[in-house]
Amino acid sequence: ATRAKMKAEETTDTHVAIFPCPAQGHVSTMLKLAQLLALHGFHITFLNTDFIHHRLHRFGDLEALLQTYPSLQFKTFPDGLPHHHPRSGQSAVDLFQYINLHAKPHIRHILLSQDPGKPKINCFIADGVFGALTIDVAHQVGIPIIHFRTISASCFWTYFCVPNLFQSNQLPITGDEDMDRVITCIPGMENMFRCRDLPSFSRGTGSEIVYALNSLALETRESLQARALILNTFEDLEGSVLSQMRLQFPRVFTIGPLHAHLNTRKESNTETTPSTSCVGEVDRRCMTWLDSQPLKSVIYVSFGSIATMTREKLIEIWYGLVNSKKRFLWVVRPDMVGPKENGDRVPAELEEGTKERGFIVGWAPQEEVLAHKAIGGFLTHSGWNSTLESLAAGVPMICCPSFGDQHVNSRFVSEVCKVGLDMKDVACDRNLVENMVNDLMDHRNEVFLNSAREVALLANRSVSSGGSSYSNLDGLIQYIRSISQ
Ligand code: UDP
Repeated sequence: ATRAKMKAEETTDTHVAIFPCPAQGHVSTMLKLAQLLALHGFHITFLNTDFIHHRLHRFGDLEALLQTYPSLQFKTFPDGLPHHHPRSGQSAVDLFQYINLHAKPHIRHILLSQDPGKPKINCFIADGVFGALTIDVAHQVGIPIIHFRTISASCFWTYFCVPNLFQSNQLPITGDEDMDRVITCIPGMENMFRCRDLPSFSRGTGSEIVYALNSLALETRESLQARALILNTFEDLEGSVLSQMRLQFPRVFTIGPLHAHLNTRKESNTETTPSTSCVGEVDRRCMTWLDSQPLKSVIYVSFGSIATMTREKLIEIWYGLVNSKKRFLWVVRPDMVGPKENGDRVPAELEEGTKERGFIVGWAPQEEVLAHKAIGGFLTHSGWNSTLESLAAGVPMICCPSFGDQHVNSRFVSEVCKVGLDMKDVACDRNLVENMVNDLMDHRNEVFLNSAREVALLANRSVSSGGSSYSNLDGLIQYIRSISQ
């Protein structure tokens, strides 16, 4: 921490404002970028909504973060939703719309503010999900803008290519469509996806789907107006699609996996990274439980920070886990399922099975969990952060996507990296879960573990000195300095 402090104190005249979409996966990733830039002497102003900031303060190590990086500060503004609005599942859409409609004056005000003892903000790194909003405000205030996307290059490129898909009649998907029809015309990813692997927004028929997809493509294409694009991925993982993207986006900086990159850039690997949870209190008891489990014997189960599910599905997954007779560590967020109905009770055999071989928490230190030697597999919703964390830790996955980019990621994991099983579009009943868990943890365990090890090696090499993400971060730092004069 001392060394980080020292480095951060040698600050330069560069002051970067960073604005993430106010959701866990975006905030924690962009906070990693903030820490990396602070380590290299930049002043950072991080824009949070009041809601997220309050939760970061309550559940994360905000104080530790501020102490370790004295050149980092937060500025906040309201997200406009009532405090008790869930902001998860389907309701996340409200948040998105509200920010797009009302956040601009707040962002502009922060970008133009002058803090005593700091240079004026002279570079803006914004989440590209708010493409038009952030380009607009940056142009208004005359500050150079760089977009950051928290999705994979493959998903970004798919959004970008939506107009080509319409032109070549590969979209929209029609009512009686064969979902296994192969998508042939995404450059760099020819024949990689079937209809079912496209982002969930492509599903369904009717004019509203066409409208939603076109809006998504337009928002994505706003990034053409940014000076550069930063992606949390690495060259060895998505090289072919990145080379196609670069024909349109000459400056793409791939600097991931960011969590691993931050670890290598800190002076020592033993220095702990402050928690950036905005969802719930990290329950560290699961680490002690993991310490007492045999090598690679536990399947970790988590569906990320916003996915919700019905109580029936939860019970089916639970039966599947218990019946597999494997040890399991499961994150069940309090807001993940609806409230218990009268008469809903957990069957005694599930309670029993969990007591014997399982551990359930509300929120886990996921990066640490995945790196633990007792973990042998991950049943995941295939969010991009979870996917990257699992790939970097060499943990094979069962992919159970529910919406957005998760369908793309699960295809990528199962078919391109070959480090897991894709469970999309199948009835998620107890027998299926049991079979998949046994397949991953027993029958095909060695094959998956071997390929997972290879991918992890590439991931960790990319963020080590001389690796592609490591060099790209150096390039990004130089580039930011050059445009923020
Ligand atoms: N996460 C965590 N503890 C948990 C569950 C999730 O720290 O118990 C973190 C996880 O490490 C990842 C993020 O939450 O960094 C989830 O991001 P992802 O992109 O996988 O999914 P999203 O939540 O955006 O759907």
